Amino acid sequence: MSQDTPSIVRRTALPQSASDPVVTPIYPSVVYRSLDADALDAQYEGANKGYTYAREGHPNADVLAHKLNGLEGAAHGLITGSGMSAIGAVLYGLLKSGDRIVAGNQLYGRSLRLLTQDLPRMGIETTFVDPTDTKALQIAITQDTSLVLLELVSNPTLRLADIETAITSAKAADAIVAIDNTFTTPRAYNPLSEGADIVIHSVTKLLAGHSDATLGYVGTNNAALAQQMNDFAVTMGLTASPFDCWLAERGLHSFELRYDRAEASAKAIADALADAPGLKRVLYPSRTDHPDHNKAQHILGARGGHMVSFELEGGRETANAFIRAASDIPFAPTLGDIGCTLSHPASSSHRALSEADRAKLGISEGFFRLSVGIEDVASLKTELLAAINAAYQHG
Ligand code: PLP
Repeated sequence: MSQDTPSIVRRTALPQSASDPVVTPIYPSVVYRSLDADALDAQYEGANKGYTYAREGHPNADVLAHKLNGLEGAAHGLITGSGMSAIGAVLYGLLKSGDRIVAGNQLYGRSLRLLTQDLPRMGIETTFVDPTDTKALQIAITQDTSLVLLELVSNPTLRLADIETAITSAKAADAIVAIDNTFTTPRAYNPLSEGADIVIHSVTKLLAGHSDATLGYVGTNNAALAQQMNDFAVTMGLTASPFDCWLAERGLHSFELRYDRAEASAKAIADALADAPGLKRVLYPSRTDHPDHNKAQHILGARGGHMVSFELEGGRETANAFIRAASDIPFAPTLGDIGCTLSHPASSSHRALSEADRAKLGISEGFFRLSVGIEDVASLKTELLAAINAAYQHG
C-alpha cells in the first residue's frame, strides 16, 4: 500500500459540495466527533447545538419531530422507537410511586396492559372510566389524580370521549392530560390546542403510513415536562432508528393527501355497508346513526376518520368465511396503512377479555374494524359486499 493511500479503516470526510441534497440524508452514525474537549463541553452544556451519541438524539429524529411538532402545534417533540415507548416515556418519565392515573377503559390493548400489569408494580394505580360518560369522568378525576390518559375515538367501537369534561376536570385537579391521538390524527384533532398537556402518537400508523417503520411521538408545549420525558427516554434508550425516522419523514409528505382520500373512502364504504342488507350495524362517526354523532360533529366537524366498524350476523364461522372471502384485504391487526386492513377484535385486540366483557363493549364474533386505505373505493365496496354475501352463504 502506498504512503498516500488512506487506510480503508480510517473514517473518511464527506466529499465537499457547494450544493445541498434536496432529500434529508440518513444519518446511521451512532457517534459524532467534536473538534476538541471545549467544543464537546459546549455541546453538553447546550451552548452549541451538536449531536454526540445517537441514543441522545440524531438528525433524522429531529427532522421528523420538527414536522410532527408543526402538525400538532407542539413546541417540543420526542421521537421514540414505537408508539408504546412514547406512552412509556410519558408514564414512566413523569409519574412516581403513589401517583394515580385516570384512563379510558377502551384504550389500545397494550396500553391497558401497561396500566394493569406493569405500572402497579411501580406503585402507580389506574382508575378506568368510560370516557363517553360525562358524570363518570367528573367522579373519577379528583384531587389525587396525577395524570389522565385518553384516546378521543375508541377502538374498535369508534365512540367519542367527552374530552372537554376530561380536560376541564383534570385542570381543576392540577392533573396532566395526555391524549393518544393515533386514531384521530392531527388532520382531525389537535389535543394541545384544546387544552391537553401532552399528545402521543404511534407514528407507525397513519402518519408514517406505509407499515414499514415502527415509531412513536410525544409532543408538548410544557418545557419542564418535555425535559423530564426526554431525559427518561435517553436513559432508557427509547431512541428511534434513523432509517425508520427517514421512512416516516418520507411517508409524512403525503400524510394529508392519504388521510383525506382514506376518509372520503371510509365514508363511502360506511354508507354502502349501511345500505346493504344483512349487517347488524355500521359505525362511522360522521353518519347520523352513530351513537355519538352530535359529539363527533362538535369535536371533529365534518371529519369522520379513516376507520369503519361493522357487525355481521353470526359467529366465528361466519367471521372466518368473511375474512377468507375478502382475500384481497389483508386480515392484519394494524391500521393506517396505505392499503385497507381488516381486523377482528374478538380474536386480536380484545382477545384477553371474556366474552361477557366483550359483549358489554358491543364486540361480538361478527364485529370487524376496517382501516381504510387509498385504493380505488369502487372496487373496495364491491369486494366487501361480495365477501359479506359469501360469508352468509357459507358461514
Ligand atoms: N396507541 C394506539 C391507539 C395504537 O393503536 C397503537 C398500536 O396499534 C399504539 C398506541 C402502539 O403503537 P406501536 O405499535 O407503534 O407501539
